[in-house]
Amino acid sequence: MYKEIEIKSITKLQIILLLSLGPTHGYKLIKEIERIQGRKPSQAHIYPFIEDLINKGYLRIKERGSRNQKVYELTEEGKEAVNLILSRFRNILEYVLNNKVNSCINCGCKIYEGGYRAEINGKEMFFCCEHCYNSFRVSHLKER
Ligand SMILES: [Zn+2]
Repeated sequence: MYKEIEIKSITKLQIILLLSLGPTHGYKLIKEIERIQGRKPSQAHIYPFIEDLINKGYLRIKERGSRNQKVYELTEEGKEAVNLILSRFRNILEYVLNNKVNSCINCGCKIYEGGYRAEINGKEMFFCCEHCYNSFRVSHLKER
C-alpha cells in the first residue's frame, strides 16, 4: 500500500531526486544538496526525512562502510513511490512551462499528458482518451 511521502521543502524534493539516481552515501547526499543550494543544508532537515523513508519501507541501508558511513538505497516500493512523486512534479512543471493545457472537449478534464487527438470535420480536437473521443463522435453525429 502506498504511504504518502510529504514533500514540503525543496530539500526533501532534492533528496528524493538524488536517491532516484541510485544508491548513495548519506554524506554525498548532503554534499550534493549543498552544491545545488549553495549553502550547507541543515542535517535536522535531512536525517529525519531519511528515517521517515526507512520507516515507511521506501529506503534501506544497503551497506555500512568504514566509520559507519551508510549507503542508502531505494527499495522497490520506494522506487514506485518516487516515480509517482516525480511524475506529479513533471506534470506540474510541464503545465507551468507550457503555460497552457488542453482540455478534453467531451468531458472537460485537463490533459496533462498523453490524451487523444482526432480530426473532426477538418479540425484537430483533443480528448483525454479514446473513450471520450468515441462518445463525443456519437453525440456529435446524432446532432447533425
Ligand atoms: Zn474526456
